[in-house]
Amino acid sequence: MQQEIRNIAIIAHVDHGKTTLVDAMLRQSGVFRENQEITERVMDSNDLEKERGITILSKNLSIHHSGLKINIVDTPGHADFGGEVERVLTMVDSVLLLVDAFDGPMPQTRFVLKKSLDLGLRPIVVINKIDRPGARPDDVVDMVFDLFCELNANEEQLDFPIVYSSAKLGFARFEIDSDNQDLEPLFDTIRDHVPAPTGDPQADFQLLVTSIDYDDYIGRIATGKIFNGRVKAGEQITMIKRDGSVIRGRISKLLGYQGLKQVELETAAAGDIVSIAGFEEIGIGETFAGGENPTALPCINIDEPTLSMN
Ligand code: GDP
Repeated sequence: MQQEIRNIAIIAHVDHGKTTLVDAMLRQSGVFRENQEITERVMDSNDLEKERGITILSKNLSIHHSGLKINIVDTPGHADFGGEVERVLTMVDSVLLLVDAFDGPMPQTRFVLKKSLDLGLRPIVVINKIDRPGARPDDVVDMVFDLFCELNANEEQLDFPIVYSSAKLGFARFEIDSDNQDLEPLFDTIRDHVPAPTGDPQADFQLLVTSIDYDDYIGRIATGKIFNGRVKAGEQITMIKRDGSVIRGRISKLLGYQGLKQVELETAAAGDIVSIAGFEEIGIGETFAGGENPTALPCINIDEPTLSMN
């Protein structure tokens, strides 16, 4: 159900704690309930997949928490080669801007934040590492506010929700000096402030491909958000190429995420982010579509690399 999906990206300067936060969210979510320990760090680990014999083909992941499925898509740190940032941001309905409570916002996150604001997204601000000696969360909030102003945020965007966290200690708070010891305030904020994805589950299937991975066994794997309709494993669908040509084919695998683990799905619907295998010619920015009159989604620009201005 669309109402139960939240699609977000995390914008963070390196070392501000993105990996630690995602680890903590995974630990406090349903997936690792059965005393399963996450011993490896997530977003930047490839060894994990080898060790568990699973395939982490892209850096996306899903967290299941109190009936909600939170899809977290990875954003490139700062440079925007080939419009990658835009591509990723077309899939999400909000971003978490994660900022170190001691360091404050860093210029490298500016670019992605600006893109998010320009696209009309309303970021959630997470001030992390509040346990750090010398942390100055109030000052950092002011700095973030100034940065939003500088980047021409609108009034709604300036009215950002703030969550204070220690990803390391696994807690989040609405007030800095409350005594909350878990991440519930962060999960609550995601549920309440990130809009559920839009799209018509009854319409014909449409998915915009935003990344491509390759697996030795299953071949090319295209990932993107289902904008409309539903899709089933094994189904015949149409791939609409950039030049307008159409090629029909069968989905060999429909994949989603449970935590970090890529799992096979039977079916998926509008709003969700999934991967499809079985199409060796599919490219980024192209559409998978179903129905009698398969229609392409607006192509996203990937041809002209935009240079980051930091
Ligand atoms: P990333 O580069 O944004 O993924 O950052 P990491 O999650 O790898 O964290 C960078 C460093 O900051 C690591 O040494 C973490 O242990 C530390 N760290 C992350 N979150 C916190 C926190 O809430 N408090 C403190 N004190 N350290 C943290």
